[in-house]
Amino acid sequence: MPERNPCLKSGCPGFCCQDIDIEITKSERTRVFPTAIHVDSMKELAQIKKDNLQGLYYTEYSRKGLEGGDFYVIVINGPCPNRLSDGSCLKHDEREYAARNFAIGCSDCNVIRKENGLSPIFIEPVE
Ligand code: SF4
Ligand code: SF4
Repeated sequence: MPERNPCLKSGCPGFCCQDIDIEITKSERTRVFPTAIHVDSMKELAQIKKDNLQGLYYTEYSRKGLEGGDFYVIVINGPCPNRLSDGSCLKHDEREYAARNFAIGCSDCNVIRKENGLSPIFIEPVE
């Protein structure tokens, strides 16, 4: 499914799908990142991020006030293994909420674009 056409057309091959850490639910971890490696603590996860150990690592994370109880934080060092060579996502139809909620042209998108030498883009809302 050509889900990333606007991104590809803008010259971005999926820079938001590498070198990131995101909150995911336990079912997203199983469904989208089955090969991720479990570590015992946030401290260990932070060290892995700092050392830039390539791969996917996750640990438990509780955030009060959110339905569903416990979450994970996953660190993706290097490219996400679900990102295909054309920039699209192998798991597009079942991708995590964080990705569904990450819009092209949002402020975080433009920060990532600038970090990777691309100009920011601005999408006009459709009325
Ligand atoms: S949302 Fe932004 S950073 Fe992510 S692939 Fe699209 S243009 Fe690139
Ligand atoms: S699962 Fe897909 S949307 Fe999520 S980080 Fe990986 S490539 Fe990006």
